[in-house]
Amino acid sequence: MTIAEVFTARYDVALREPFVTALRRVTGFTSLLVGVRDSDGMTGIGEAVATPPITGESLESIEAAIAGPLSSAVVGAPVEELDAVLARMSGSIVANTSAKAALDIALHDLWSRSLGAPLHRLLGGSRRELVTDVTISMAAPAEMAAAARARVADGFSALKLKLGGPSDLDFERVLRVREAVGAGVTIRVDANQGWNAKQAVRLIRRIEDADLGIELVEQPVPAGDLEGLAHVTASVTTPVMADESCFSPHDVIELVRRHAVDAVNVKLMKCGGIRPAKAVLSVADAAGLACSVGSMMEGTVSATAAACLAAGRVEVSTVDLDAPWWTVGQTVDGGAVWEDERILLSEEPGLGHRVPDELFRSGVSAFPAGGGSSAAAL
Ligand SMILES: [Mg+2]
Repeated sequence: MTIAEVFTARYDVALREPFVTALRRVTGFTSLLVGVRDSDGMTGIGEAVATPPITGESLESIEAAIAGPLSSAVVGAPVEELDAVLARMSGSIVANTSAKAALDIALHDLWSRSLGAPLHRLLGGSRRELVTDVTISMAAPAEMAAAARARVADGFSALKLKLGGPSDLDFERVLRVREAVGAGVTIRVDANQGWNAKQAVRLIRRIEDADLGIELVEQPVPAGDLEGLAHVTASVTTPVMADESCFSPHDVIELVRRHAVDAVNVKLMKCGGIRPAKAVLSVADAAGLACSVGSMMEGTVSATAAACLAAGRVEVSTVDLDAPWWTVGQTVDGGAVWEDERILLSEEPGLGHRVPDELFRSGVSAFPAGGGSSAAAL
């Protein structure tokens, strides 16, 4: 079979409550679904979200990249030559990682459907159930403590606190949450680039001295400040994880060269899909870094793809895939099932979604062979 058409469709996703970090406040988002249809009429599905402050992409730029160079690179190619198709797709334009991720996911889904196998099995099949942490939005300390208590009552055993504010306030946030949930709950913190290196060292040491039991600190300093990141990592005993500083395998090599972190958080929207994510994981694991698989605020299609990757790879020790807990409903049925902290992978072929034909039939954009940037709405 050859790849016949690429489709996109926007859909709006509401959140059950605002998601607040040091970088942004989100109450809902628009997701872009991508369909890839082969010459037999089988459809694979992928998804992208725009996170401009992190990847530099907008919804419009993602649509333009898919309508132009990315679909031109894949239409007409054999579905079974997945790796070669993905390599050509990735090389057709620099950057644009979320646009590439959507098409990479859709091609993986189509390829595994054509083989009649669940994608997580084809990616290694190490386990069919995962445990994710859940994010506690940045808020007043008492509010975060109440949210933490509620999530633990829901069944979560690992919390990720969003920090990145003034030092005394951030310390109070961690202290109040630890007091609220007790010693048995795992607490991770994510500053989302909100501190400078000296602020980070001072605060993390204070948290260590108070014995608050923080498992790791994610992205304490701005993405480009690798010297600052290395200084923090060398100055504290709590493991430090790169998120916004780590997009590509090359980024991991640079982080390792500088002894800048102990761990990396891999997200499909940052690296450009499952194929580059596997490379990031392999390089990080070979260098002795701990590996996490996470996501942006995304819908269930791309979150399921990330879960398939995490389930397939033994080096993934931390799963940060709580986006489906935040979203209300889902546009596409099937895929992995989120039951509080547990993620159950589907045993259906591909990602396991039931792709409704009408999703890509009306009011969507289609990019057939030779369509390139002259795409027309159906
Ligand atoms: Mg993060």
